[in-house]
Amino acid sequence: MFESLSDRLQNIFSGLRGKGRLTEDDINSAMREIRMALLEADVNFKVVKQFTADTKQRCLEAEVLESLTPAQNVVKIVLDELTKLLGENDAKLNTSSRIPNVIMLVGLQGSGKTTAAAKLAYLLKGKGHVPLLVAGDVYRPAAADQLETLGGEIGVKVFRGDGKDPVQIAKDGVRYAIDNLRDVVIVDTAGRLHVDEQMMDEAAAIKEAVKPEEILMVVDAMTGQDVVNVASAFAEKVEFDGVIMSKMDGDARGGGALSLKQVTGKPIKFISAGEKPDSLEEFHPDRMAKRILGMGDVVSLIEQASKIQAEEIEEEQAERLARADINLNDFLEIRRQVNKMGGISKLLSAMPGGDKAMAEGNVDMKALDRMETVIYSMTAHEREHPEVLNASRRQRIAAGCGLTVQDVNQVMKQFNETRKMVKQMMRKQEQAMGNRASR
Ligand code: GDP
Repeated sequence: MFESLSDRLQNIFSGLRGKGRLTEDDINSAMREIRMALLEADVNFKVVKQFTADTKQRCLEAEVLESLTPAQNVVKIVLDELTKLLGENDAKLNTSSRIPNVIMLVGLQGSGKTTAAAKLAYLLKGKGHVPLLVAGDVYRPAAADQLETLGGEIGVKVFRGDGKDPVQIAKDGVRYAIDNLRDVVIVDTAGRLHVDEQMMDEAAAIKEAVKPEEILMVVDAMTGQDVVNVASAFAEKVEFDGVIMSKMDGDARGGGALSLKQVTGKPIKFISAGEKPDSLEEFHPDRMAKRILGMGDVVSLIEQASKIQAEEIEEEQAERLARADINLNDFLEIRRQVNKMGGISKLLSAMPGGDKAMAEGNVDMKALDRMETVIYSMTAHEREHPEVLNASRRQRIAAGCGLTVQDVNQVMKQFNETRKMVKQMMRKQEQAMGNRASR
């Protein structure tokens, strides 16, 4: 998703970077190109108009034109405005002190509602909640079975009730949750092919009966800016709080995601990019905007890495990391974790410029295999104490694995860079923890 928009915008910025100073004409022509790029990405016309007007006004301020790095300033302004368009701040789930909290999902048939219910249950379970799924879609014959299967996969109980009256099922579901100590109830509701009266009335009746803390509308990113029409029509009858945008892994152009907040006022709270239960993520507008502009999403990556590490890291390794240092065994381990996180291509796509580098074939996959070969040719002592690797040892290693000393030096250079990065990251984390503790 967003690939073609992302390419277009990055090309526009490369054009600007080529110029030392920017004139008003340069800005005007860049804004025209941005406008075209957004329209082609299927962003709502009014949203595009407002976006380019605001961006242009900020870019034409003297500070930008007269600065020594005008192109960088333009990128920064576009980043700000894109973030604003996507919702500015992270939108959290509404909660209350009532137990259980109730979350109701609404949306058209096929939008991904039933799977989203299970994914959300899985995500909340991971945060320590004990959710209950309620099968409120009584019209699509397989919906309750589908939910039951998904619930089985993720270890979350599914309540089916009498299987006939959705309002009663929702009420009974909440009662069941109270009796069985579940702290969150997620109610799946019936969808239709189009927004129609009966669906709205039913959603309104369930809302009235169980008074959910949060109503989330599930929309399919593949339907482009049409999601805006569906969401607006829905909001007229059943006021909802936020959106789960599904199928972000498809080749949708991104218009829906970029138009939704501005037109309907409803924030995207979660995005889903896959069919598996773990493919739902909280939505962060700033990270998404950075990704669109090819600046990568390193924060999500580090979060994911630390999640894996928290689960699997060895005690001894954890100690070394606490000392903010790594050796070559850790370096190999990091490489293995990368594979677990979906391989180098997923990792690269979260890095600044990574998608582009891959598309252009600038990533030397063989170099990654070389790295493993070189490290495996070292003795255990050398891996643990990289500082002993002098010129003669490097020569021996090169000969041992049939590569050149330059190859070994290259690996050591990469290792030293990673080591430096880990030190910086750990220091930042310590500072952040220190700040939190002193608050
Ligand atoms: P519902 O009718 O709204 O309940 O839709 P479902 O939850 O049954 O989803 C419809 C189809 O979309 C199913 O085949 C899902 O596996 C698929 N689906 C849902 N979310 C995603 C997603 O984020 N990515 C992909 N690729 N498929 C999805």
